Amino acid sequence: MRIGLDLGGTKIEGIILSNNGCIDQKIRVDTPSDDYEETVNSICNVIEKLQGSNRMPVGIGTPGAIALPEKLMKNSNSILLNGKPLQQDIQTKLGYEIRLENDANCFVLSEAFYGAAINIRSVFGVILGTGCGGGFVIDKQLVTGPNSIAGEWGHNCIPASVRNLIERDRICYCGRQNCIETVISGRGLQQTYLEKFGNNLEAKEIAQRAKTEDTAATKCIEIYAEQLACSLSTIINMIDPHAIVLGGGLSNIESLYDLLPNYLTGHIFNDTVKTKILRPAFGDASGAIGAACLWTEN
Ligand SMILES: [Zn+2]
Repeated sequence: MRIGLDLGGTKIEGIILSNNGCIDQKIRVDTPSDDYEETVNSICNVIEKLQGSNRMPVGIGTPGAIALPEKLMKNSNSILLNGKPLQQDIQTKLGYEIRLENDANCFVLSEAFYGAAINIRSVFGVILGTGCGGGFVIDKQLVTGPNSIAGEWGHNCIPASVRNLIERDRICYCGRQNCIETVISGRGLQQTYLEKFGNNLEAKEIAQRAKTEDTAATKCIEIYAEQLACSLSTIINMIDPHAIVLGGGLSNIESLYDLLPNYLTGHIFNDTVKTKILRPAFGDASGAIGAACLWTEN
């Protein structure tokens, strides 16, 4: 039994995960807004409520990463975390060691251990949501490196071959322009629809309209799929994962699973695409499940 906790922008979700991957208990609380100390307190309260008399190991998934060697948070879109020793502060308050990882890395761990990629040797996981994160697991082992940015392909520049599918340069919150995230996140899809069809619709609405064969929305999803396929082709050419599992709100766009293999064919350095494109097995729970998996890595 392990505790997994997902620190989101609006919710903190804590679970007890049994050894067969089932959720035994779940607690959800609101994430305190704009208050770091309160955020640490809320995280610790959730953990203490879940802990039993025999202390369970605790893993936490969070936006951003731990910068080494100082172990301060960085690259988080929850900007109040940046520069803070989050892991240390939680450990000090609890009095024992915890593990903490990027939320996209937790997502792919959950799918590799108990989800869509359970029998797959190497898998790249992509979160397509408000932002765009990624992580890579080989043989159930998370790939990490000295910069703590493995899988952060959302902040590479959109490949030139699909740059013409956007009308004008897009500034990313990271300070660069035309990052993949600015195109394939929910906000990216929204921006593309606005540029092409002159209407400001949320990504969810565009996806919904595409389901009803609305011409503009369908065309926009096709453009999106080509942008996503071309962006993913850089991953396939680099690490050739056996599967790519999609997560986040945009992974619910069913037509992507038909469109992506076709578009990938034109962009990867091979005549055929053997990489499986998988639907996620878990919804919102994947972050907390993956965080608990930080204690089952080989
Ligand atoms: Zn960026």
